[in-house]
Amino acid sequence: MQCKLVSILGLILAIALVGPAPLASLPGTESDPEEGLLDADLVCEATVLETRSEWREDEQGRHIYTRVRLLPGRRLKGNLPDQTIQLDLQGGTVGPITERVSLTPVFRRGERAVVFLRSRPWRLAAGARAKLPIKDGQVLWKGRMISLERLAARLSRRQQEPLDDQQTQQSSQTGPVLYSIEPATGPAGVGAEVNIVGAGFGQVRGRGFVEFFYRTGRPKISALILSWSEKAVRCTVPVDVIEGYSASASSGPIAIVLADGIRSNELPFRVTFGYDGSRWDKDEVQYLVNENAHTCQDEGQAIEAAAGSWNRTGASVRLVYAGPHSRASSSYNGRNEVLWGRTDKGLAVTWTWEVSGVVLECDTVFNDRYQWSTADQPESYQMDVQTVALHEFGHWVGLRDLYGDLGDGEYDVAKVMYGFGSAGKVKRQPHPDDVAGIHFAYPPPLPPDPPGALEYPEVDLTGHFTVRWAASSQASGYELCRSDDGGLNWQSIYIGPHTYMDQTIGPGMYRFRVRATNAAGPSEWLEGQWDCLVAAAD
Ligand SMILES: [Zn+2]
Repeated sequence: MQCKLVSILGLILAIALVGPAPLASLPGTESDPEEGLLDADLVCEATVLETRSEWREDEQGRHIYTRVRLLPGRRLKGNLPDQTIQLDLQGGTVGPITERVSLTPVFRRGERAVVFLRSRPWRLAAGARAKLPIKDGQVLWKGRMISLERLAARLSRRQQEPLDDQQTQQSSQTGPVLYSIEPATGPAGVGAEVNIVGAGFGQVRGRGFVEFFYRTGRPKISALILSWSEKAVRCTVPVDVIEGYSASASSGPIAIVLADGIRSNELPFRVTFGYDGSRWDKDEVQYLVNENAHTCQDEGQAIEAAAGSWNRTGASVRLVYAGPHSRASSSYNGRNEVLWGRTDKGLAVTWTWEVSGVVLECDTVFNDRYQWSTADQPESYQMDVQTVALHEFGHWVGLRDLYGDLGDGEYDVAKVMYGFGSAGKVKRQPHPDDVAGIHFAYPPPLPPDPPGALEYPEVDLTGHFTVRWAASSQASGYELCRSDDGGLNWQSIYIGPHTYMDQTIGPGMYRFRVRATNAAGPSEWLEGQWDCLVAAAD
């Protein structure tokens, strides 16, 4: 609301924010998500003795809290207390209602984990991975399974990874080999099936599994296996709870691991969207906005613009602004509230209350520690309100974060649901894969409008040119066709999310037509007005 002059504080933030910040976890860099944990007062092995969830109401609002009682075990850093440790975490289940808080871990009774704690009162360290599950006496740290002794040594020395610790690569000559994945792209969490073809998988599965990429430095996500044979494995693209966090398979390498631990080569897989299975039981979701941001103006308009971008996809749910509110914190109160407040969990946090997958309420709190902007182009130290609101509203409609980066500038970085945000970054339109996501949860009643324009040259003397078309906001994909006989016969040459296609083609006369597609079907064709004459240059 108010606009503050950029002060020393702004400059400090500018320095702190040059790296990408997770949209729903602690500010940090992708390459070193553990950095925030190094300031923990106590790091120890712990067994979960008891968890108890209850509703609590205070001046902060109404939330489900889960009281977790931990029996501390081996000390890795800091001083062990002589009694059990009690943590109060937001989120949990009471009766039929579950409250989910983005990127807050869940503890289960009897579970053993390494925990990173700040002291008195005990609370989880402000890191994205304050709880590391223990598996076979080891934890995953900076992308590798290491023993607790080694973790303790790392924590005390804060040193670089020693070079003698490299895992030896399994030779793919003797192990399983992947040739292809069909299809090589698809959504996660909706039962989409893929067929992995190769050799050396073994006749029986035993304890073998297929792992999908989730996020750099995090455990992989294991897929549900539908069939397994020597040369083919069929599985679904998974979502899961990883280290207590809701997670989706993301774009990245997949591999097969045999029962004896031998790992195959990797093949890239592109994830279009990840769906968490939740759903509003109505077609209009009303939200209220507290325009209490300190560092920008007109934040309500930016939030409405973000809602409008999802609404223009034609999905059978609408996010509708229903007026202002004045609360300064999230609360389970029957109203879906957006506001600015204090949180130690990244750019913004979304709370979801649900019963058996039916969403009752969502709240989003933007982190007031950041500098926010509603300008067309934010400064390099500012976060764009509309970009982050678009992402958080994606969680409201059931889409999960995607953390892949295949290096193609698209998967998953071009999507609204990419889980990292950066200062100065603007991404205000859903990618067609984001559209496919909301359309899966809320099917559109109508096919999309056709693209508004189709461009290609009238004459080309090189044999290389690009066909472009305008995006349709309700489209989750496009189909481009080419005719070399003036439009009598058409050949489909592209089906996918892009709004362009490069041509490399011999001399001739070529006409093009394009249509948009979504879950309800294709649009009308938009046909070019002329044939492109491709001739060899003299
Ligand atoms: Zn997110």
